[in-house]
Amino acid sequence: MATKKAVKVRHIPQRMCVGCRQTLEKRNLIRLVRTSEGVKVDLTGKIAGRGAYLHDQRSCWDKGLKGPLAAALKTELKAGDLESLRQYMELLPSTGPNPAEGNSSGLL
Ligand SMILES: [Zn+2]
Repeated sequence: MATKKAVKVRHIPQRMCVGCRQTLEKRNLIRLVRTSEGVKVDLTGKIAGRGAYLHDQRSCWDKGLKGPLAAALKTELKAGDLESLRQYMELLPSTGPNPAEGNSSGLL
């Protein structure tokens, strides 16, 4: 009578967004990593180096880039880093009150 129950405690990795300081599942966060060439967006999660996380939301990047990110990575964001991170930020969805955008663009 071997009742074998595979009770697995599923460990979901939790990380903190340095923008809003919420802790949540890694998959909702984007990893940033400090490399010898500056701070990079790490979409693979495999780049070695000191990492920090930001939500995939523009508002958190906006906040994070103003200081908390650099502090979390224990570095300073160089102008070039900031620029490329801002460019990345532009691709992210913005949050908050954002009334239907571009619904006048040729949809019949
Ligand atoms: Zn956040």
